[in-house]
Amino acid sequence: MQKIDTICISHMHGDHVLGLPGLLGSMNLFGRERDLTLVGPASLEPYVRESLRLTHTFVRFTMQFIACDTSRPAKIQQWGDNCLESIPVKHRIEAFGFKLQNVPTKRNLKKESIPALNLQRSEILKLKNGKDVVRATGERLSAEKLCLPLPHSSTYVFSGDTAPCENIRVASQGANVLYHESTFLHELKSMARSTGHSTAQDAATLAAEAGVHTLVLGHLSSRYQDESRVEEEGRQFFANTHLATEGMRIRLLPKEMPRIDYLE
Ligand SMILES: [Zn+2]
Repeated sequence: MQKIDTICISHMHGDHVLGLPGLLGSMNLFGRERDLTLVGPASLEPYVRESLRLTHTFVRFTMQFIACDTSRPAKIQQWGDNCLESIPVKHRIEAFGFKLQNVPTKRNLKKESIPALNLQRSEILKLKNGKDVVRATGERLSAEKLCLPLPHSSTYVFSGDTAPCENIRVASQGANVLYHESTFLHELKSMARSTGHSTAQDAATLAAEAGVHTLVLGHLSSRYQDESRVEEEGRQFFANTHLATEGMRIRLLPKEMPRIDYLE
């Protein structure tokens, strides 16, 4: 957990935040010193700081809070070729989804290019950035010809708790993986609507419309002893549907299908 730099909180319902102060306390106990960024609703910061203060939990690392924009999808962080965005969604209280995207900007050189042209370091850097090099001799080295095409981008969208939501549909266009809540089966659609949630059919229909590759369903109501019913309902509307399980790991691979592993 010390490798985590950023924690995104979708909304302030207890089932989404009550564990957080404990996690922060554990991070401190295990010697964390590096900064931590917490992203979420504006009330996340007072909640965390008061919980820690009232429980006499002192953390020695610095916490930086970022309040999400409630009016529109907005960029939160950019590092390297990666971008994190918050997305306002439709729940009973202020709530957000998140989009994590990797858009490669550096090309890879074709293997044979370097020895064939005796490329210098500065020339390699320029070509990788997609820029042509003109040598003192007037020789022009084309980035297009010497480099491989840019790798594909990869996108993960997390819906948080929400009724079917246009912002999520738009953000998910062509995403590799969409995690979408599916609290209910569609037979309880009216309950889903009145509580600001989605059904498996809602989530799978949205996934199909958005053209995502893989749909992961989660946040199932505890009433479903047999959770495979939720997965089955999803698969009727979007074939590549999987249930989220604890310890599940999804790897986004450029050009390949997302790979799902289950940790013991
Ligand atoms: Zn909720």
